Amino acid sequence: MDHLLLPFRQFVLKVHSRCDLACNHCYIYEHSDQSWRGRPLGIAPETAAQAAGRIAEHATRHQLRDVHVVLHGGEPLLLGLEGTRRLLELLKRTVETEVTRLDLRIHTNAVLLDEAFLDLFATHDVKVGVSLDGDRASNDRHRLYRDGRSSYDKVVKALGLLRSAKYRQLYAGLLCTIDIANDPVDVYRGLLEQEPPRIDLLLPHATWEHLPPGLGTPRSRRRRSPSFTRSFSSRPARSWSMYGKTICIEPAMSGFPGHTLYQQYTRWRQRCTYEESQRHPIP
Ligand code: SF4
Repeated sequence: MDHLLLPFRQFVLKVHSRCDLACNHCYIYEHSDQSWRGRPLGIAPETAAQAAGRIAEHATRHQLRDVHVVLHGGEPLLLGLEGTRRLLELLKRTVETEVTRLDLRIHTNAVLLDEAFLDLFATHDVKVGVSLDGDRASNDRHRLYRDGRSSYDKVVKALGLLRSAKYRQLYAGLLCTIDIANDPVDVYRGLLEQEPPRIDLLLPHATWEHLPPGLGTPRSRRRRSPSFTRSFSSRPARSWSMYGKTICIEPAMSGFPGHTLYQQYTRWRQRCTYEESQRHPIP
């Protein structure tokens, strides 16, 4: 039987294994898999060269016109300015060819994001996605430093830079991890204030053994338990029209398949997002 071959086009490159924040919903540092403790801090030059080479080999074999590489962590900016510059130059030099265009992105908590990094990203056309969980109160519920300090002001300052005319073209959007204890309208308003071209809503990472916050009920009661999206879907839809914004929103399911939550999330997406995203496709 012939099988349709769909080659990978997106690669998430883990460039640093630690983080300068200590968000208590973090799926790396705060969950049962603690194997990060034994990992090297920054990506070694040989590992980076090997990874870039294999991506290039894959792109050539499949004659890919576009390859997406996302710098990820931990916190990727901990690689430092020079380390990041060397990595970006390596990826450009190795992966980009006459056939293959390299689309570079970074997902960051933005507390270290400054003009020096943004100038570097402008040079290499690296799009920047920033993690923010809403307004100050919503964000401060989880996204704190190890000593309990808020990260909000630093992130908002960095987003101010990213929104400025000089760097606006690099702004990929916001990634928001949802907590049903937060007020959805406050979350929405906090995100919209940052004028993102796109918002990704993420559920806290979970498994059947470790359910997300608010869904920790016995299996038999799950269908009747207050739904995550019943509170979080209808109000953002109203909020959307209240603010008259047209932003593409992509709810994402991370690691928690098969629950009615997924169906409700999908319905929500169909109801309040799909039409908007058709009119305003992701750039
Ligand atoms: S910024 Fe991201 S990687 Fe760092 S602790 Fe928070 S969720 Fe985890």
